[in-house]
Amino acid sequence: MATAYLSIGANLGDRLQQLNQAIALLKAQPEILVTKVSPFYETAPVGGVVQDDFLNGAVALETTLEPLALLAVIHDIEQQLHRVRKVHWGPRTIDLDIVFFDQLSQKTAALTLPHPEVYNRRFVLVPLLDILPKTSVYYSKVVQANARLGDSQRLQVFNGV
Ligand code: ATP
Ligand code: CA
Ligand code: CA
Repeated sequence: MATAYLSIGANLGDRLQQLNQAIALLKAQPEILVTKVSPFYETAPVGGVVQDDFLNGAVALETTLEPLALLAVIHDIEQQLHRVRKVHWGPRTIDLDIVFFDQLSQKTAALTLPHPEVYNRRFVLVPLLDILPKTSVYYSKVVQANARLGDSQRLQVFNGV
């Protein structure tokens, strides 16, 4: 059994519904046990493309799947939620990324672990800190990266409307 952390986000359509649907689809997988879901945050887009604010969250799960099989599952969920996107780092109905998969460190064309941008993105770090145990090998790096970013990237707890 492996422990993985996912980052989830949406900025097109009904963002809240899409995040909740993605989580429901994860929970419906027989090989996946969702153990924690963070609060959601409204966040400013990062990366230069002018677009609407995102809703972001993080999910902790236990899985018997190998990393590439988990990636295939999240791609399938993105397809089911009719992911549309024309611009790289542009608007999308749903985006699921694998942030950590156990302590695996790898860089292949299909999958880089930990996710290469994790320490540069408040919208990943802040929800992650809500669910990452202090005993995680990544905990102090996540805390330090979040402190380093300060409030440079706008982010607020989503108030549900
Ligand atoms: P970013 O990766 O900077 O957040 P993105 O999420 O918009 O950008 P996508 O178009 O969703 O990028 O993904 C492109 C490819 O990235 C995927 O097809 C996948 O194979 C690859 N990839 C590499 N590492 C990861 C990871 N840790 N989690 C999810 N996808 C990954
Ligand atoms: Ca992403
Ligand atoms: Ca992605």
